[in-house]
Amino acid sequence: MKAAVLKAFNQPLVIKEVADPTLTPDGVILKLEATGVCRSDWHAWQGHMTTPNANMLPHILGHEMSGIVEEVGKNIKNFKKGDRVIVPFNQGDGVCPYCVSGRHNICDNRQMVGLDFNGGFASHIHIPNADLNLFHLPENISFLDASSMGCRFMTAYHGVMTQGNLKAGDWVSIYGSGGVGLSAVQIATAAGANVIAVDIGDDKLELAKKFGAVATVNSKRENAIEAIKEITKGGSRLSVDAIGHQDTVLSSVMSLQKGGRHVQLGMSSNPKGGLTSLPINLILAYEIEFIGSCGMPVPEYPKLIRMVEMGHLQPGKLVTKKIALDEINQAFEDMNQYTGSGMTVVTKY
Ligand SMILES: [Zn+2]
Ligand SMILES: [Zn+2]
Repeated sequence: MKAAVLKAFNQPLVIKEVADPTLTPDGVILKLEATGVCRSDWHAWQGHMTTPNANMLPHILGHEMSGIVEEVGKNIKNFKKGDRVIVPFNQGDGVCPYCVSGRHNICDNRQMVGLDFNGGFASHIHIPNADLNLFHLPENISFLDASSMGCRFMTAYHGVMTQGNLKAGDWVSIYGSGGVGLSAVQIATAAGANVIAVDIGDDKLELAKKFGAVATVNSKRENAIEAIKEITKGGSRLSVDAIGHQDTVLSSVMSLQKGGRHVQLGMSSNPKGGLTSLPINLILAYEIEFIGSCGMPVPEYPKLIRMVEMGHLQPGKLVTKKIALDEINQAFEDMNQYTGSGMTVVTKY
């Protein structure tokens, strides 16, 4: 099969023919139709990832995939050749205490597609434990729509709806209008919240408005905390940091009203694992909650898929660029420069 192979960190991926994946009894081999290029791929390409297998080379990245089932292992019950499917990037074993309590995203034996095993920057992929970790894609959801649901959309959905416990009518500030941030804007808006999007790029803020933000703040020109306090007359009920920079973590926490909740969705590239200082006296006095959010557990998938199927969410609107696998290195180069808005998807392998 054709693949873009990571041979050395921070060096161009090598596009070449590699051995086809091997089918296991509990696995499924997919022919891929769309693979999103995500900031997490960029982090992995740079060598920032800390999962045990993330630094093995050579390796195939890519974790936002949809495709068609080509081969099924002998133990597979839920899928057959020709099925359209979507792949969640965090996969559980289904048996550890966290999976049993419905929190597959923090499974003791969690497997991250494209990190712990070869991912979707290739024409084909093998998904282990597929009956648990693969979902049927309804006919009216395109592969392009589905490509962002395996990572950004599901990450934003879990962060805003579950960890953020969002309620209709809430003021919600969202720092960062990249893939996860824009997904969060769309989801929070669909759930009836009033969203304020914060970014330093006017082009990204324009997209946030298109996705439903009722107000935008360019934090290069304005003090975001003051602007949010003024717009909301006191602060947001929920604030999401979709960036992971110490300034945005702090600003997000300081944008909250009393009893507000901060959700950390953005991963830090800080070499100290994101170690950052926080205003603990304010957190104490305001009874602020500071909550982590990582991907989305498998049981939340059907709800997200239904919202897309019914037209409440349009993940495909995030896609601003379709590329061939051969052009993947340019997509990483754009991420180095933090240029471009929206999402790039590989649709030709
Ligand atoms: Zn991702
Ligand atoms: Zn588990």
